[in-house]
Amino acid sequence: MNNPEEFDLRPLTIEKVFGLRAFKPTDEGTLKPVSMPATQTGFLWESGENIAKCVMKVHIPAVLGCKCGFWAYTDGSNEYHFNPTSVQGIIEASGRMVIGTKGFRAEKARIVVLVEPDSDTIINHRIEKRFNMFIRKHPDIPVVPNVDAALFEFPVSKIRPSDFRN
Ligand SMILES: [Zn+2]
Repeated sequence: MNNPEEFDLRPLTIEKVFGLRAFKPTDEGTLKPVSMPATQTGFLWESGENIAKCVMKVHIPAVLGCKCGFWAYTDGSNEYHFNPTSVQGIIEASGRMVIGTKGFRAEKARIVVLVEPDSDTIINHRIEKRFNMFIRKHPDIPVVPNVDAALFEFPVSKIRPSDFRN
């Protein structure tokens, strides 16, 4: 007979984990990370499951004290979306993850929804053209007109480091 604590210590529910982040559309109609250290050099987002690699190549992301993995915000902010050359979207994360006070880093991520860029300036028109190229190549990814609509469909996960302390 096992000790009850070995398999019966604390209740745990693992739900899908959603976070808001930004992406950089390119002239080739691809989506790049806004910050390269998060993943390997040359990484491009795809439909379905994306798998992060650490630039140090010594471990599977995400690991405490490193910068690897797919980053996303769960605190209602999105500091990655700092200028009009990026677009926003929500990812569903899985695999190995680390969490902090603003969001998480994850080994695996799937884009569940993207937000149309604004089209009121010349630079935004260029971003919109790149974004539309990506969407034509990835018609399975839903697009919504604004970030509120994205967050309504896929609310970011309310996870905090303190949720996981004993
Ligand atoms: Zn790493």
